[in-house]
Amino acid sequence: MGAPEGQEARRIDGKAIAKRVREEVRERVAALAKRGIQPGLATVLVGDDPASAIYVRNKEKACREVGMESIGVKLPGSTTQAELLAVVDDLNRRADVHGILVQLPLPVDLDSNVVIERISPAKDVDGLHPVSQGRLLAGAPGLRPCTPLGVMRLLDEVGVDPRGRRAVVVGRSLLVGKPVALLLLERHATVTICHTRTSDLAAEVGSADIVIAAAGKPGAVRGEWIRAGATVIDVGTNRTEAGLVGDVEYEAAARRAAHISPVPGGVGPMTIAMLLSNTADAATPHG
Ligand code: NAP
Repeated sequence: MGAPEGQEARRIDGKAIAKRVREEVRERVAALAKRGIQPGLATVLVGDDPASAIYVRNKEKACREVGMESIGVKLPGSTTQAELLAVVDDLNRRADVHGILVQLPLPVDLDSNVVIERISPAKDVDGLHPVSQGRLLAGAPGLRPCTPLGVMRLLDEVGVDPRGRRAVVVGRSLLVGKPVALLLLERHATVTICHTRTSDLAAEVGSADIVIAAAGKPGAVRGEWIRAGATVIDVGTNRTEAGLVGDVEYEAAARRAAHISPVPGGVGPMTIAMLLSNTADAATPHG
């Protein structure tokens, strides 16, 4: 399964795979339309952080491109917690809204945990509500976080079955590290979660058939640590003077890995695609 001698790893084309996912979602949206359902995603943007505004705009555009309704709610930075919760309550009640996404980070005076907990778990397309997290932990059906879902889809697309493989996840956040570790476990990988207190990261990474890097530190995963023939998924998105880079030393890792996802163009495009997929799931009647 390793990259043959002298040959670089197969670069995982997240952009092309995300396009395929969006195409699948578009077909699902068309099928739902025949049943009289138009999936709707509400995005809530509080304040005027330029990066958040761009993220929300991209999500809204992606939504419309697959035929979903995009309901954009823009609130001033002075919005109080009570006002924001009232907006979430209203979206929870609306029948045309199947998914609710509150763009993070929120202005400092607002408590994002309280706001996320207010979202109906049935509409929690970001998969960050404690009920969604509990369902993931329990292996029960529910909405899963988008970036971890994107990672799993990349593995599937390159034909890497986690079953019985050693997977090492670098990072233990609620957003990426922990949920991706649980999804790998659910698919029968033997999973190790590493973090800043891990005593020998090189040895842990070196033992892995699958490496998921989600540390948010350029070069946190050295290329020379990668076991020959491993699959490397780089979630890291770090803005540096040299541009956007991941957590993995790409060139050196690509000489050893069988498959590796680049930054940009790897996991990044998958996140919005999986958000759309989650919204289609949330809009699909069950039972
Ligand atoms: P986070 O909340 O800052 O968590 C980072 C985790 O990595 C922590 O658990 C930390 O350990 C660990 N870590 C940091 N430096 C490390 C090191 N040198 N060695 C080992 N472990 C280390 O970040 P996050 O929200 O999970 O995001 C991680 C990265 O993914 C960021 O670059 C973020 O921008 C990116 N991201 C990308 C997408 C996408 O769509 N592509 C989506 C979400 C996040 P401790 O717990 O011990 O502090």
